[in-house]
Amino acid sequence: MVPSRRTWNLGATPSLLGLWRVGRAGEPQPAMARPAPASPAARPFPHTGPGRLRTGRGKDTPAGGDEDSGVHSAGRPALAQCRALSVDWAGPGSPHRLYLTVQVENLKEKLISQAQEVSRLRSELGGTDLEKHRDLLMVENERLRQEMRRCEAELQELRGKPGAACTGCEHSQESAQLRDKLSQLQLEVAENKGMLSELNLEVQQKTDRLAEVELRLKDCLAEKAQEEERLSRRLRDSHETIASLRAQSPPIKYVIKTVEVESSKTKQALSESQARNQHLQEQVAMQRQVLKEMEQQLQSSHQLTAQLRAQIAMYEAELERAHGQMLEEMQSLEEDKNRAIEEAFARAQVEMKAVHENLAGVRTNLLTLQPALRTLTNDYNGLKRQVRGFPLLLQEALKSVKAEIGQAIEEVSSNNQELLRKYRRELQLRKKCHNELVRLKGNIRVIARVRPVTKEDGEGPEATNAVTFDPDDDSIIHLLHKGKPVSFELDKVFSPRASQQDVFQEVQALITSCIDGFNVCIFAYGQTGAGKTYTMEGTPENPGINQRALQLLFSEVQEKASDWAYTITVSAAEIYNEALRDLLGQEPQEKLEIRLCPDGSGQLYVPGLTEFQVQSVDDINKVFEFGHTNRTTEFTNLNEHSSRSHALLIVMVRGVDCSTGLRTTGKLNLVDLAGSERVGKSGAEGSRLREAQHINKSLSALGDVIAALRSRQGHVPFRNSKLTYLLQDSLSGDSKTLMVVQVSPVEKNTSETLYSLKFAERVRSVELGPGSRRAELGSWSSQEHLEWEPACQTPQPAARAHSAPGSGSTSRPGSIRRKLQPSA
Ligand code: ADP
Ligand code: MG
Repeated sequence: MVPSRRTWNLGATPSLLGLWRVGRAGEPQPAMARPAPASPAARPFPHTGPGRLRTGRGKDTPAGGDEDSGVHSAGRPALAQCRALSVDWAGPGSPHRLYLTVQVENLKEKLISQAQEVSRLRSELGGTDLEKHRDLLMVENERLRQEMRRCEAELQELRGKPGAACTGCEHSQESAQLRDKLSQLQLEVAENKGMLSELNLEVQQKTDRLAEVELRLKDCLAEKAQEEERLSRRLRDSHETIASLRAQSPPIKYVIKTVEVESSKTKQALSESQARNQHLQEQVAMQRQVLKEMEQQLQSSHQLTAQLRAQIAMYEAELERAHGQMLEEMQSLEEDKNRAIEEAFARAQVEMKAVHENLAGVRTNLLTLQPALRTLTNDYNGLKRQVRGFPLLLQEALKSVKAEIGQAIEEVSSNNQELLRKYRRELQLRKKCHNELVRLKGNIRVIARVRPVTKEDGEGPEATNAVTFDPDDDSIIHLLHKGKPVSFELDKVFSPRASQQDVFQEVQALITSCIDGFNVCIFAYGQTGAGKTYTMEGTPENPGINQRALQLLFSEVQEKASDWAYTITVSAAEIYNEALRDLLGQEPQEKLEIRLCPDGSGQLYVPGLTEFQVQSVDDINKVFEFGHTNRTTEFTNLNEHSSRSHALLIVMVRGVDCSTGLRTTGKLNLVDLAGSERVGKSGAEGSRLREAQHINKSLSALGDVIAALRSRQGHVPFRNSKLTYLLQDSLSGDSKTLMVVQVSPVEKNTSETLYSLKFAERVRSVELGPGSRRAELGSWSSQEHLEWEPACQTPQPAARAHSAPGSGSTSRPGSIRRKLQPSA
């Protein structure tokens, strides 16, 4: 097994020097010349530790081994040589030292050979790349060993130099350097160990084979152990031989003694060599230790490998299972796919069948449609022919439609005519109804207005108030005349608190009836200073009936402007001493005449009377101003004159219905009468008497006319005065008349107040039947206005029952009633 092993025959060897020489010439330096790839890892021989290789005498000699046997086998020629060349021992290559060196070399050789044996075994097993790598590392390791040996050889050389052993300091320095180098090498070895450990991890796959190698190695070890035992036996034999030899011849003893003597001389060198040897042995032991550790690591790697393998097996099993599952799923999917394909195929076949059937149906339909198409084509051609004749048809149709439309239009227009006729009839009916209403209400109304006490009334008992009112009845007025209370009932009584607007509200219905074509007369009656002019004209700040009436007319006309076109004109005139004068004319002094219309209609007109068309309140104001100016320039004492004349404002409202062309004309006469006071009684003369006579005449005539109208007499004495003659068309027929009796409230005027109220009541209370009226009223007109009361012929109202009993006036109703009662 160990081919490099060499045995030494002491008897055959001529001398130690010759041995030395032979060793040097042939194979004396195996450790130096032969490469030994023994790395610590590749030499698992713990039982061949350095302790066993230790050589020496006495107690240091180990139990046995190759080395010892080698030593002893080589020791014999060495000793012989020592004996022969004892003189040479003092030199640098002293025989003792040489012997030790040889021993060391032998031991190393042994180590190397064992490592080579391991390497060989491994190479026998064949190797992977890793193993090759490992081998390379081993080679590297060996190289390092060689390096180490070279160093040792150098060391030895140095020691071999004369005097070198003794010059301690130089050797010690070199030794230190060598030690450094050795430590470096050890470091490199450690690095290599690291690399090796890495490689060991990769060696996992080859563990089986490695185990095999180990087994074989174990076998080798067993053989080795046997060999060792054999060698130890031989060693023992050798020891025994040595002992027997010692007990034999004296020359040997001498030699031994010499050796002992010599050894004392070379003791120091020996000890040094021993120390070095020990050091190297320690290093070897360390290497072996490292090898052991690596083996342990290898073992743990094996364990890890086993674990990993188990894992791999587990994974493989899992993989297999997954694979199996996958196969199963694939199979099921394949089955599904096949099934789906089959179903789809079946469906497609069914659908195909249906499509075929449909196609067949369509074909049959097509066959049946062809005749229908033919009929349609025929129809189309027929229609085409008809369309060609369509214009003619259209013309005919248009003609007939036109005729129909014309007929319809005619019907509509005749309907319209009928409607217009009905509308007019309705209008007339409405007017008739209105008239009837007014008649029932009384188309002659009498109201009284009491003016407030003014500064002009003065102070004292004469200026005390003599007029009182009924709080529950606004148509009753009480007068205290000469200590006697007298009551009168009229249509309405306004107290001094009544405003212009209050009074106007009472008359505004009459004024608006002008727009509908009625004639209206509004008179202000009363003694001078009782407030006639105030009520009719008012003041600029508080206008009277005249201005308010025109304002109302304007607003009413504007409201109807969409249907009716109205024109409003005004004229202003005065009657003084029975002479009519135009207040708006260029010649105010000219006396105007009232004439019959030449058209034979029986209408009256005043030639030369100026008419102004007014459209706004400004126009009215201008007209009033102008009339006023005419009146003031004509008379120096206006107030006195105005109280002696009648002032008339005549407003004409003419309208045309835009849709029907119907025309209406209404006339509003606003009259501020002359003072009703009885001047004649006081014995006036001259012009004053004439004035009084004219005033009396005209007022009497007015009273007569009103009475005649109210009693619906056949003859109304309009011509008895200029005033009634002028107002004839506004007093007769369905005209409306309102008289405002102005009353002074103070004590000193009670006689005139009494007279005015009596006149008012007389006018209002005439209610006679048609038969008796004419006769009764005939006696009225013959009365003088101023003589009514003295003559006691004045008809008194039937409703005088509330007058104070026993008074002068209360006795009259009965007589009047008797007079006015129809004879039948
Ligand atoms: P007539 O015209 O009857 O002679 P006027 O109208 O001239 O009387 O009135 C006489 C005076 O009395 C005037 O100063 C007038 O302002 C005043 N007067 C008349 N009536 C009223 C009244 N209702 N409220 C206030 N003052 C009045
Ligand atoms: Mg007046």
